[in-house]
Amino acid sequence: MCKRCVDARAAGAIVARRTVLKLAAAASAGLTFVPHAFAQGAKAPPKPENVLSPDAALDRLMKGNARYVEGVSRRHDFSHEREPLRTGQNPFAGVLSCADSRIAPEYCFDTGRGDVFVCRVAGNFASDEIVASLEYAVQVLNAPLIMVLGHDACGAVDATVKSIKDGTTLPGHLPSLVAAISPAVKAVQGEPGDLLDNAIRRNVTLNVDKLRAAGPILSKFVDDKKVRIVGGLYKLASGKVELLA
Ligand SMILES: [Zn+2]
Repeated sequence: MCKRCVDARAAGAIVARRTVLKLAAAASAGLTFVPHAFAQGAKAPPKPENVLSPDAALDRLMKGNARYVEGVSRRHDFSHEREPLRTGQNPFAGVLSCADSRIAPEYCFDTGRGDVFVCRVAGNFASDEIVASLEYAVQVLNAPLIMVLGHDACGAVDATVKSIKDGTTLPGHLPSLVAAISPAVKAVQGEPGDLLDNAIRRNVTLNVDKLRAAGPILSKFVDDKKVRIVGGLYKLASGKVELLA
């Protein structure tokens, strides 16, 4: 390669780098410091395809789940996502799921990096820290959708059922899980059907209700129809997510 070619290539690299840095700075300013920047016509978000209405976001989640169930998940090119996501994020959904290793929201909705803001705790309940995290996802990152995702055969709910039935206190810090999940178990005691299945479903819907009512941030976004909060149940055998609320 001659010297002119080398110089031209170096100059091109500098321009390209400046452009990337400018875009990164714009994305950072728009997303990190200005809540709901998109509506105010600010700089482009890192993932423009994630700027969706609440209904469109739910549709995208469920279509991703359908691909996952059918075994035709997309190949995600993580290397191309890395640079735009380096200085900002705009996930199209927040997901509160159980910590159970078999669930994996990013897989079950066939999403890439920067697509879903996932909060996980055994028993998928909305503690203050979870509510705060989802407030951040909605207020700062502009996520238009939240899903509380439970699953069948949940060990945390099962442990709560047994603890209440037997009147036993679990060791270590486990009683904190039992305390958080107990309202769902107690609410369905005496109802027809399987106690564990009923408690798992009620635990999802109770936490959906809790998030919808969580003022002053989440409740306002829900009332203004800028955010939808829904419940889902992941089926271990099929991988299918059933919408509950
Ligand atoms: Zn679980």
